[in-house]
Amino acid sequence: MKIGFIGLGIMGKPMCKNLLKAGHECLVYDIMEETMKELAQCGAISCGSAMEAAAGRELVITMLPNSPHVKEVVMGENGIRNSMERGSILVDMSSIAPLASREIGLSLAGKGIEMLDAPVSGGEPKAIDGTLSIMVGGKREIYDRIKEILLVMGSSAVYCGELGAGNTTKLANQIVVALNIAACSEAFTLAQMAGVDPALVYEAIRGGLAGSTVMDAKVPMMLEGEDKPGFRIDLHIKDLNNALDTAHGVGMGLPLTSQVMEMLQQLRADGQGQKDHSALVKYYEKMTGSAVSKKK
Ligand code: NAD
Repeated sequence: MKIGFIGLGIMGKPMCKNLLKAGHECLVYDIMEETMKELAQCGAISCGSAMEAAAGRELVITMLPNSPHVKEVVMGENGIRNSMERGSILVDMSSIAPLASREIGLSLAGKGIEMLDAPVSGGEPKAIDGTLSIMVGGKREIYDRIKEILLVMGSSAVYCGELGAGNTTKLANQIVVALNIAACSEAFTLAQMAGVDPALVYEAIRGGLAGSTVMDAKVPMMLEGEDKPGFRIDLHIKDLNNALDTAHGVGMGLPLTSQVMEMLQQLRADGQGQKDHSALVKYYEKMTGSAVSKKK
């Protein structure tokens, strides 16, 4: 299929590479020229603007940081809704506010353009392997039409409901991930402070009920003192902001999420926003003066 792909960051780049490997023709655009060069070497066609990448495509995929970026790329002055054809489909795979997805979808519907929100979970390693978990909102028949393309980038795609339902699902995912990282940070710092080697604690508990995909992905990073992203603290703050807004909009509070949000805000204020979210452990390191990372 002829696909336009906009946003070639940590996630978008490997996702687009997998589409190219599967034989799809991809026209790509990112404000960072460097990343377009790398994809051109894999067979993609670089474009000078998002509008150009989207023009005449049956399918356009966006993988951008947050709601304002997607709104700008789709509905801005040079937005792709001006170059996409009637009957074509936009699949926004960014993690954005569910309300923003609905607003963007509404503006496209006026031009006869279909939209799905299809955020992902799994991070860079699963984006590279093509084994992301994809959660989809929008019209079911549109999902059925493009499901096979989603499954080039992911090992599962679940239809969750109307437009915005994909991003609501993603917010639930991000709450579980953030709270799990915070629990690991607290627990492993306790072990360190109480005189038990955190690496042994990890080995002892990872196979039991406390073990999780998050623990296996993030605790080894904490133990190694590795904080290269992965998933940046700044992006997780963005997701928790969207979760808190959404919760308040439906009349509920998120007491645990707001607690972890304050820890992440403190880390950002300390200049750590670009680090991997597993660097949340540094909040506890600062509090106790004791690090869980192995001495190098
Ligand atoms: P990133 O910052 O690495 O990539 C975003 C890309 O968008 C960058 O290359 C940037 O240059 C580009 N961009 C920004 N504004 C643009 C514009 N106006 N036009 C064209 N390109 C533009 O972020 P990422 O980690 O790839 O994440 C992308 C989305 O996926 C986010 O919503 C994030 O929350 C979500 N996500 C990330 C991960 C992860 O582990 N990194 C996992 C799941 C979901």
